[in-house]
Amino acid sequence: MTIITRLTQETINRIAAGEVIERPAAAVKELVENALDADATRIDIAIEGGGIARIAVIDNGSGIAQAQLPLAIERHATSKLRDDALIHITTLGFRGEALPSIGAAARLTLTSRPAQQDSAARITVEGGVISRVSPIAAPFGTSAEVTDLFFATPARRKFLRSIGAETAACSDIVRDLALAAPAVGFAFRVDGKTQFDLPPQDRRARLAALIGHDDAAQLIPIDTGESPLTITGFIGPASLTRAAARHNHITVNGRPVRDPMLRMAVRLAYREVIPPGRHPIAALWLNLAHDQLDVNVHPAKSELRFAEADAVRSALIRTIRAALASPATSQAAPSLRYYQPARPSMALQRGFAEREIATGFDLPAPALRPITPSPDSSPYPLGAPIAQIFDTYILALAADDTLILVDQHAAHERLTEERLRRERDQSGIARHALLSPIPVDLPAPDIDRLLAAAPDLAQLGLDLESFGPGAVLVRAIPAALDRANPAALIRDIADSLADHGSAVALTARLDAVLIRMACHRSIRAGRRLTAEEMSALLRAMEATPRAQTCPHGRPTVLRLSRDALERMFGRAGL
Ligand code: ADP
Ligand code: MG
Repeated sequence: MTIITRLTQETINRIAAGEVIERPAAAVKELVENALDADATRIDIAIEGGGIARIAVIDNGSGIAQAQLPLAIERHATSKLRDDALIHITTLGFRGEALPSIGAAARLTLTSRPAQQDSAARITVEGGVISRVSPIAAPFGTSAEVTDLFFATPARRKFLRSIGAETAACSDIVRDLALAAPAVGFAFRVDGKTQFDLPPQDRRARLAALIGHDDAAQLIPIDTGESPLTITGFIGPASLTRAAARHNHITVNGRPVRDPMLRMAVRLAYREVIPPGRHPIAALWLNLAHDQLDVNVHPAKSELRFAEADAVRSALIRTIRAALASPATSQAAPSLRYYQPARPSMALQRGFAEREIATGFDLPAPALRPITPSPDSSPYPLGAPIAQIFDTYILALAADDTLILVDQHAAHERLTEERLRRERDQSGIARHALLSPIPVDLPAPDIDRLLAAAPDLAQLGLDLESFGPGAVLVRAIPAALDRANPAALIRDIADSLADHGSAVALTARLDAVLIRMACHRSIRAGRRLTAEEMSALLRAMEATPRAQTCPHGRPTVLRLSRDALERMFGRAGL
């Protein structure tokens, strides 16, 4: 016989806590959102031990009256939502669930003093057990301190990742929030070290402070003007990409979101203009009528439901593509082949995808450039090149009548990686000292990570040193990368170090750096190759172990045998 019993309120609270606060970053988000909802003009955020040991968020906002403190930590108690207003949400919070959830999972101390109150008051919740309210001296505003997150919900604790990964997740959330509200001063400290301390500023200045001034200078502004869906912000040109999707910020009606549909739309907009595995930089603010948007979809409120999702998606893609294709943009990024006026062409059609964005130019560039004269056969396993397709793939024909397609970037990336590995394991990676050392301007956390790794990076042929508060100085790069852009290389390595937090073994991290380096010297997709370059690449691949895949594991070569072709055309057995 089954017996149905009621869960205790404590258990109910803990289950809900796990939904709302799945990791430290979620607690950080809720606390900072509360500060923003309280109209703070300055928010100080500190985390320790990945946010598991401690999170502190201090604001100078409107505060919570002493008599209201017990209500603030009661489930489903909120000052932000009237019972009839679920479709009209203008605040970041509205469920009255964050503080009780945090209090059910951790130790939460809330200290607050509204402007009208003579002194501050404090309340504490520990694993759901609430203390009495006591008076205490404190400045105007609210401070929330969370320690020992998930001590009361050990099952949740087990699902946490490394301290480094949790720190990175907290940092991503804080950056999203700082961008969503540039008019609010934001300071962020990790384990006692200041990551940033930003005054109230405009969007562009805030973005520059977070991604670095060099990159920010290249951004393309976007502004669709007043319309049912207004899109404003900045996107990077296709020539400015990063190794991680860390720099993809979307704010909808003031709410920073990580909405999968919107993120996918940004990726689609860039898909044909940036190489696979690379990520664009984008900071976008979307505004639409509140009744066009349901924010009550996900416990963490990071996903949205749009009344007209298709329209939003296509408007976003169209806006980004138009900005990328504008003439001003192609000047800013001369390396963008898709936007250059097309040369008079052979009658061949260019690929469908490119045509969509190459607006304004009638004559598409040829998709296929044959090599003349082409040899009949070749003694080599990867054959002789016959043509380059889309300026990206080499088409070759081998002696055994196999058609071979090689992804030029992926293949060259593997060759460079193998060369770097061989040098590292044999004589040490050869350095190329820069004639004049190059300062690279970066956000503080990236600088810290790079400098901490400097001795290890030196083993990889990269010499870096500290260069004032906002930059590092690059003195040497690996000789194998002599034609790489050092600033872009360093930013990528910083991303790579951020991705592979300090908890990852050093060898694994350095491996990741090495792979990242290889990408930088490699022939880009979209570069025209001469017949000699194509042959040289094929011959080098034959001499290189593991050349069948790129360092990221994707194939570099596709083969189509004559037999297979005949089967596909239904000729087999005729
Ligand atoms: P919600 O934000 O959904 O209302 P919370 O549990 O996050 O729910 O907060 C409960 C209530 O506590 C809020 O509605 C607000 O009135 C008050 N509160 C929480 N944090 C702050 C803060 N930093 N400043 C002022 N009031 C706050
Ligand atoms: Mg809240």
